[in-house]
Amino acid sequence: MSPIDPKDVEVTRARMEADDVRASYGGLMRGKRAVITGVANDRSIAWAIAQAFHAEGAELVFTYPGEAMERRVRPLAESLGAKAILDCDVAKDDDIDRAVADVRKVWDRVDVLVHSIGYAPREALAGRFADVTTREAWRVAMDVSAYSLVGLARAFKPLMRPGASIVSLSYYGAEKVVRNYNVMGVAKAALECSTRYLADDLGADGIRVNCISAGPLKTLAAAGIKGMRDMLSENAERTPLRRNIEQEDCARAALYLCSDLGKNVTGEVLHVDAGQNIVGVVSMG
Ligand code: NAD
Repeated sequence: MSPIDPKDVEVTRARMEADDVRASYGGLMRGKRAVITGVANDRSIAWAIAQAFHAEGAELVFTYPGEAMERRVRPLAESLGAKAILDCDVAKDDDIDRAVADVRKVWDRVDVLVHSIGYAPREALAGRFADVTTREAWRVAMDVSAYSLVGLARAFKPLMRPGASIVSLSYYGAEKVVRNYNVMGVAKAALECSTRYLADDLGADGIRVNCISAGPLKTLAAAGIKGMRDMLSENAERTPLRRNIEQEDCARAALYLCSDLGKNVTGEVLHVDAGQNIVGVVSMG
């Protein structure tokens, strides 16, 4: 057998990656109706998920928190033929109830709910955890980033039939200390734990609840975390796959979890992180 030329390996890899970007999975989400929260711009993880769902045949409703965000979200949502684009600040019960009522005007059921929301006051995301984690920062981070999953799940449950699913986005800072991630790590731990409790509870109604633990990505939310830029370049060297992930990786994972491919998967935290979470000490040198 002739030895493999490294150049051929590179060419094959490049071709596979190009195919991957164009890949379609034959209408995995055909007929499904998905509510997408958390699009802020075209770098948002939720936007990559929305595009993938749309490409696979889903109908979409988008939510945004407040007028300032609407200007960013509306053009993106309209480009995918959104059935509705709704104001919903998840820190407000009235907003959540109104969003459900508005969804009822266009659909009689919801098959997928994407929770892609995270927020903590900026001052809490830089510096020593004990010093910067005020009662108010804790309350806001927990409310917006973790409780909102429970609040949205409860509100949308009456519209969800057996086979429906909910997915949210977490990060490794829920499991291990990531400096400066601080109270967001605590909130993500609550989000992941809530995923398990909701999965058990809503499993009785045939509704699945899962979470994607994504590797670091340059998005608006991430820009609020001190040292993010350095962390991204260091991370790319340390993951088993020696690279960072992309928003589209989360989108493909969401397709798996929210389509019938994942029909017996629930309460799971799926790491989409180029293997980052399995690494302990990177180098003994
Ligand atoms: P992003 O800034 O694009 O999305 C965050 C979204 O949260 C925004 O659309 C914002 O409007 C929304 N939001 C904030 N407060 C809200 C409120 N009160 N009501 C409703 N929506 C509100 O950034 P992203 O990185 O795409 O974040 C999406 C999710 O992914 C978040 O849960 C984030 O913690 C998680 N995540 C991000 C990374 C990363 O490195 N970027 C890694 C792992 C997990």
